[in-house]
Amino acid sequence: MPSFFVEVVEMKLHEYQAKQLFARYGIPVPKGEVASTPTEARTIAEKLNKPVAIKAQVLVGGRGKAGGIKVAKSPDETEQLAGQILGMRIKGLPVEKVLVEEALDIAAEYYLGIIVDRSKERNLVMVSAMGGVDIEEVAETHPEAIARAYIDPFIGLLDFQIRQLHKQAKLEPATLRSFIAIAKSLYRLYIECDANLAEINPLVLTKEGNLVAADAKLLIDDNALYRQPEIASWREEVEEDPFEAEARKKGLAYVRLKGEVGIIGNGAGLTMTTLDIVQRAGAAPANFLDIGGGARADIVREGLKLILSDPQVKGVLINIFGGITRCDEVAKGILQALEGMELKVPIVVRLTGTREEEGRKLLEGTPLIPAATMQEAAEKIVQLIRSRAS
Ligand code: GDP
Ligand code: MN
Repeated sequence: MPSFFVEVVEMKLHEYQAKQLFARYGIPVPKGEVASTPTEARTIAEKLNKPVAIKAQVLVGGRGKAGGIKVAKSPDETEQLAGQILGMRIKGLPVEKVLVEEALDIAAEYYLGIIVDRSKERNLVMVSAMGGVDIEEVAETHPEAIARAYIDPFIGLLDFQIRQLHKQAKLEPATLRSFIAIAKSLYRLYIECDANLAEINPLVLTKEGNLVAADAKLLIDDNALYRQPEIASWREEVEEDPFEAEARKKGLAYVRLKGEVGIIGNGAGLTMTTLDIVQRAGAAPANFLDIGGGARADIVREGLKLILSDPQVKGVLINIFGGITRCDEVAKGILQALEGMELKVPIVVRLTGTREEEGRKLLEGTPLIPAATMQEAAEKIVQLIRSRAS
């Protein structure tokens, strides 16, 4: 499977949303609520009537290090610190909400995570006594400090596996029973909510000896959102890729990728193949855009405009196999998109099938570069991008 699949097909949940799900599955979380203003934060602190942690709700990790997590001893202090955090940007994202929850007396910070291991085609559980920090960092510097077990999809996560992980990771022995319960609940949530990743980091051992999920990270498989209506309703347009948000509004089947070649194809299969061929020709696709069958000029126009507005795009490949889709309609759409626009990047067009002659004729005398085959088209666009860059 091409690698772009892995990076784009998931929806991130906020900590407070993930904790709501945790609570439903019986995973202990600190008592708390979410606030959008300092006054709201104050009210929550008054209700909790104890020291609170105030935590920026943005969809990135490392909030602690960035100053987005603070502990307050009183409602006054909560209001003041919430005001500071609500004005921050963390890794470019504005903080619009804070979670205000009872502060924990931390004795130890553990790590518990479940992720898809694509190479093993299994879900993988990882446990470590070195929680609180980036697990990638632990994996690099202390790989032996992470205990791992693969889950058989038909049997599920078994008690003995959890016991082994607990022992291997050297967690406090007295926490075994509650740890087993938490790990099983997390796995159930992971499966039932169609997650790709479920992570508790840190899973805090409090001074009173309880395990509590102090942080919560969940990534949900995008392709399963149709059957997770509640989670799907939490999707926010502001924090997702602006190009994808725009595409969604226009009803385009578009996914943004990280490369430099903008791509338009008709039909998911042909479009995917086009991505692969561009990759093989030595460049990386900037997006996936399937204009569908029987596409009209306006869809092509909107799609091409969107792609050309993306600064990472250094060239465009349009690959159309005309069946129901008519090549002359596509050509019209391309010309409409370019109307009144100064074309800054090369566009290679391969049109074949229904009304290809008419389509090609429409494009004659324009700066668009024709190609006879998909292979030729991919090589041409890669070459053009290369020669312009050098
Ligand atoms: P992240 O930095 O975005 O991963 O946010 P976390 O929720 O994991 O918080 C980072 C660190 O803040 C944790 O490892 C804790 O050390 C600390 N922290 C989080 N919640 C609390 C809390 O309720 N009380 C105290 N004392 N520290 C907390
Ligand atoms: Mn964390």
